[in-house]
Amino acid sequence: MIEIKAVRKSFGAIEVIRGINLTIERGEVLCLIGASGSGKSTLLQCINSLEPIQGGQIVVDGIDVHGKSTDLNKLRQKLGIVFQQYNAFPHLTALENVALAPRVVKKMPRAQALELAREHLDYVGLGARADLRPAKLSGGQQQRLAIARALAMKPDYMLFDEVTSALDPELVGEVLDTMRNLKATGMTMIVVTHDIAFARESGDRVAFFDRGTLCEVGPAKQVINEPREERTRQFLQRVL
Ligand code: ATP
Ligand code: MG
Repeated sequence: MIEIKAVRKSFGAIEVIRGINLTIERGEVLCLIGASGSGKSTLLQCINSLEPIQGGQIVVDGIDVHGKSTDLNKLRQKLGIVFQQYNAFPHLTALENVALAPRVVKKMPRAQALELAREHLDYVGLGARADLRPAKLSGGQQQRLAIARALAMKPDYMLFDEVTSALDPELVGEVLDTMRNLKATGMTMIVVTHDIAFARESGDRVAFFDRGTLCEVGPAKQVINEPREERTRQFLQRVL
């Protein structure tokens, strides 16, 4: 369970997260939507302790994310993150990219890490491309590689930040399919997305962010089809 309690986050004098409360249960897919600059990416970075917070608390399976004695390695092994921009190591093959973190962080023997990597490449449909470098992969394939890399660490949670936003339209579907497959396995996911159709169909709940506050959260179809808040309605009118 991820518990976000009265969290506040500022960059300098500007408060960009202004007292957010939100709990994500195991097995749930929560989609975060909201205008550019509303604080969605910042919240994900706070959950991963990439950013400090100025108020409140974030707790992941009982671990106080910003606690002084928190083991960040242990925390981050629980959280797989995939970003909009691809982040594979260019000089390594797809297979080596997936095997790297298990080898370095988990000290897994090379042969075992490569076998694990192969399984995860197969899972995201890249088995036949294992020996290619990232530059030889399409954008959609690179995002699936990023998902495989995150999954190889056996995270308890997957955080996605607009993973399809930089893709050509015809490549979006294959990445969304991978995410739907992952949902079907019961993975707990927080998905920041501008893809309202995906949020409606694949989200269990949708949370609408507005200027650093959580304006509305509820069952996906209700929030998208029948928003309770006027600000949610206006946002959806602009983007749908
Ligand atoms: P988008 O949909 O465009 O990705 P977002 O909801 O993810 O937007 P954030 O990237 O979280 O929004 O940004 C929230 C606010 O914090 C914005 O005003 C942004 O300019 C500001 N911000 C984000 N990162 C930093 C930083 N490292 N330093 C200063 N300000 C930042
Ligand atoms: Mg963002």
